Amino acid sequence: MLTLSRIFESMSVIPYGRQDISEADIRAVVEVLRSDFLTQGSTVPTFEKAVTTYCATRHAVAVNSATSALHIACLALGVGPGDIVWTSPITFVASANCALYCGAQVDFVDIDSHTYNICVERLAEKLAQAEKSDCLPKVIIPVHLCGQPCDMTSIHALSQRYGFKIIEDASHAIGGKYKDKPIGSCYYSDITVFSFHPVKIITTGEGGMALTNNSQLFKHMQLLRSHGITRNEADMTHPSEGPWYYQQIDLGFNYRMTDLQAALGLSQMQRLDAFVSKRHAIARRYDKLLANFPIIRPWQHPESYSGMHLYVIRIELNKISKNYHEVFKSLRDSSIGVNLHYIPVYRQPYYVRLGFEAGYCPVAEEYYAGAISLPLHPMLTDEQQDEVVAALKRAINP
Ligand SMILES: *Cc1c(COP(=O)(O)O)cnc(C)c1O
Repeated sequence: MLTLSRIFESMSVIPYGRQDISEADIRAVVEVLRSDFLTQGSTVPTFEKAVTTYCATRHAVAVNSATSALHIACLALGVGPGDIVWTSPITFVASANCALYCGAQVDFVDIDSHTYNICVERLAEKLAQAEKSDCLPKVIIPVHLCGQPCDMTSIHALSQRYGFKIIEDASHAIGGKYKDKPIGSCYYSDITVFSFHPVKIITTGEGGMALTNNSQLFKHMQLLRSHGITRNEADMTHPSEGPWYYQQIDLGFNYRMTDLQAALGLSQMQRLDAFVSKRHAIARRYDKLLANFPIIRPWQHPESYSGMHLYVIRIELNKISKNYHEVFKSLRDSSIGVNLHYIPVYRQPYYVRLGFEAGYCPVAEEYYAGAISLPLHPMLTDEQQDEVVAALKRAINP
């Protein structure tokens, strides 16, 4: 089977995203390799501390993926059978799957046509209806798509009115700010989740983190990360039986991050601000180069600072003679590793089997019909960016 990386290598494709690994990153990982602890050592808590300091949050639980972080976040908030979780349809499937892992139901709120984030007007309407039919959501998971923060003030106000909890899926957004507060501060939410997959802003290979200011949620997520086992006597049902003793007091998982991964993450944190400003510089350059193209360029909220994970353009198909498939294929044929973030989650066969129908979120489907993510990562050179723009020009104009 040809893996994605093999395909990219064989054609020297310009990928839409990739990691930026320095010699210092490599040295940091090697240092852990030579140490006594490859996992459950001191580097994981040091990495957690670096992220909570950066984000001005109290607590963090580093795990092996954002998917795991979303799962334990839902469990810590008490999501279970009979509960409903709402999220955006334009996200990676993990933002919705986490509710299903807990035996809960999931539902989707259509997106805003400018930001592509969850639409707060639709959300308010849907909440009013849900209140009448007594099926309010327990948790809402806003996703900061492309790194652009959702309208957290409004979502937080609605949570006060309707009593739901909030998990921010900030997989795209570490390094960004919402109204001068770092994404991850949890100022408007109960828990914030980051992903450290190599295409994201900083990487640990695989990895994720759940941040919170609530010490109960923190303790519960720590427990769930490691089998539901505690070695803390205060949390045990009866006094410790000896130095060997531990108790399993909940049903948890092995979702631990290794110290090798944490060392990479800790080293990458030092360049987080540089990564994000480089991404902004590249985005601004795209804005200039693409000014006269028949496309809609990303709209940036003036009150926030995006993590700038993705540069999504929308092709104005009514202004060109080619269809979406032709444009996309032409770009791929020119070795531009464009992508589509995302297929509306409820259009996935698994979700269709749960009963979701085409047309459920019209704005999301319209977005899906024309969106393309152009290559954007700190290693992208001006020459490569010019190549992307030239290829897009060829793809659009026959
Ligand atoms: C990448 C991503 C995830 C999952 O992250 P992993 O670390 O790969 O599990 C979840 N949500 C969004 C929005 C993502 O982009």
